[in-house]
Amino acid sequence: MGKTPHILIGREKIALRIAELAARIKLEYAGKNPLLLCVLKGGFVFMADLVRQLDMPVQMDFMRVSSYGGGMECSGSINVGQGPGIPLQGRDVLIVEDIVDMGFSLSVVRNFLSQMQPASLKLCALLDKPSRRKVPVCIDYLGFTVPDKFVVGYGIDFDEQYRYLPDVCFLEEL
Ligand code: 5GP
Ligand code: MG
Repeated sequence: MGKTPHILIGREKIALRIAELAARIKLEYAGKNPLLLCVLKGGFVFMADLVRQLDMPVQMDFMRVSSYGGGMECSGSINVGQGPGIPLQGRDVLIVEDIVDMGFSLSVVRNFLSQMQPASLKLCALLDKPSRRKVPVCIDYLGFTVPDKFVVGYGIDFDEQYRYLPDVCFLEEL
């Protein structure tokens, strides 16, 4: 059975919101040398658009997080795969994530990274699905709050499909 993507947040709206986030980040990190740490794979398009709107020198790194059990539900068993390569000690680290849902992934990522003693550790997430939260997560820079729908596109996948879509979409069963 196929699934049809429907636009939830269009590309123009995303670009405008990222410009607002970038302006805030630029102001709050002025005079610092922030390290933007993208959680792969879902955060890669957001990260790429964000750094190009930031208009300030930043460093970038990438990390992998895997959750066991495929499909549309995150199992709650989360493992950090590839960690960041750049040492985080004393750095102002900004995590760049696609979506915070139940909150398990981000709490694992935060605990993992805070052990590396960054000077500061903040979170920038494109999407928030607060209705399903199980673990509290502080989102310092948020793009959009979304309803309890399974979203894809703009870097976000369903079984490795739909990442290429330029808009944030939701999937509907045919
Ligand atoms: P959490 O641990 O907060 O439940 O899971 C967050 C992760 O689950 C996200 O980084 C993302 O990889 C995945 N996820 C949560 N909601 C969605 C969704 O609506 N669509 C997709 N494709 N992934 C989601
Ligand atoms: Mg993610």
